[in-house]
Amino acid sequence: MPNLVIATKNQGKLKEFKAMLSDIPLNVLSLGDFQEIEVDENGKTFEENALIKAKKVVQMTGDAVLSDDSGLEVEVLGGRPGVHTARYAGPGASDHENIEKLLKELEGVPPEKRKARFVCCLCLALPDGRIFVEHGYLEGFITFEPKGTMGFGYDPVFFVPELGKTLSEATPQEKNAVSHRARAMQKMKKHLLKYVKSF
Ligand code: IMP
Repeated sequence: MPNLVIATKNQGKLKEFKAMLSDIPLNVLSLGDFQEIEVDENGKTFEENALIKAKKVVQMTGDAVLSDDSGLEVEVLGGRPGVHTARYAGPGASDHENIEKLLKELEGVPPEKRKARFVCCLCLALPDGRIFVEHGYLEGFITFEPKGTMGFGYDPVFFVPELGKTLSEATPQEKNAVSHRARAMQKMKKHLLKYVKSF
């Protein structure tokens, strides 16, 4: 079974990836298995960051690598926090601090103007040098207060109309059926399946 290194140390993302990849015969590893690898995310777009991570990790491990760069774009904030989503409230900010900052910035903004979307850019880098890039999106609204206990990041304040609840109120199965990451992964699976079949 070929190895696939998920280029993330984010446990929330990793859990979702493992669930989404469970139907493909791959030995799934993560950056947690390679303590020495540190990757800077200094790109200006999600795609740039995903490519930086995938290229560096494939070079260092020699294994196929799947990287994800994702974040939140809030319409009334002109697309912020965007590529700064993970560190919105400052370097090393917790999910709670990031959510607090977002809700403060949106104080007084009425429900219909709280439109937002999650963006996910996935990048698959193969040991032979080939690279595939796919995107996925999830549209929703930012709530006035956190709701729910599941998921990670901004899930408690992201209301999804097609689910009728926040991502933190959704079960992992419900989230993985509609999420930006799942939608990008759906497209990426055709490349992964071809790769696995070539062994
Ligand atoms: P990255 O590791 O630089 O891609 O950081 C992306 C950040 O976006 C994460 O730290 C989360 O705060 C946020 N994010 C990405 N995907 C999700 C999601 O599915 N739910 C909630 N927050 C997310």
